[in-house]
Amino acid sequence: PLDGRVAIVTGSTSGIGLAIANTLAEQGALIVINGLGDEAEIERLCRELSDRHQTPVRYDDADLSQAGAVMDLVDRSARAFGPVEILVNNAGIQYVSPIEEFPPEKWDAILAINLSAVFHATRCVLPDMRRRGWGRIINVASAHGLIGSPFKSAYVAAKHGVIGLTKVTALEMAEAGITCNAVCPGYVWTPLVEHQVRAQAVAHGISEDEVVRKVLLAEQPNKRFATAEEIAGTVAFLCSPAAASITGASISVDGGWTAH
Ligand code: NAD
Repeated sequence: PLDGRVAIVTGSTSGIGLAIANTLAEQGALIVINGLGDEAEIERLCRELSDRHQTPVRYDDADLSQAGAVMDLVDRSARAFGPVEILVNNAGIQYVSPIEEFPPEKWDAILAINLSAVFHATRCVLPDMRRRGWGRIINVASAHGLIGSPFKSAYVAAKHGVIGLTKVTALEMAEAGITCNAVCPGYVWTPLVEHQVRAQAVAHGISEDEVVRKVLLAEQPNKRFATAEEIAGTVAFLCSPAAASITGASISVDGGWTAH
């Protein structure tokens, strides 16, 4: 159903972004993979995706903490594949610490990658989407875009910001055939969460096992991690014709967490 559509998925060398890239490629989209990691490993991953789904896949190593790099990512993608029709702003980092000890440079990095990059990429894809009268922008926010948790000041602030930006983008583009929505995962088992379990164990002074049971899954009423494929399925739905009237929404995929 997405045959020939050009899609950028930021932060797609790992975790949720990689699952989203796989699902959109499966539906026939041309995929721009972005993210950090070992170049050779990523090239192998792109070839595998491309072979599996018989669709072009290219890698772009843009560092999304830099505004200029985000703009170059959109430019290079359009030059290689044509105008970008689907933008999935997924790249994100986490840092866990009480506010008094929160390193200001971590605050700046989280705001830059998790929030400002969404603005820069959105700004750059809109003119082509508007000209073509079709576009889908999907922002991978978080349950932490809707509620707070201790020790995650920068992340919670950035994700709340993403949901605000999603609403404004949706309103400005409402008549242009462009939708913009946020997907709000609860806990998904990915490298990001794996690192966090270690950091939370230190912050709370408990074992990693206890972090999983008492901190992470305690929040999630269905008592299991969501899968990256479940998040990818929601993104694919938002790209489908059935979702054409859904815009400015924040869709929770969190096992009931934010229903509390
Ligand atoms: P992950 O660490 O597995 O993947 C993050 C991706 O972002 C990687 O590809 C990484 O290379 C990329 N990235 C990091 N810094 C970058 C930079 N400066 N420039 C370009 N790319 C960069 O994490 P994940 O769990 O798959 O998270 C993906 C998104 O989902 C994030 O926005 C995260 O906040 C959100 N999220 C995750 C969970 C969860 O439980 N895992 C829950 C809610 C929201």
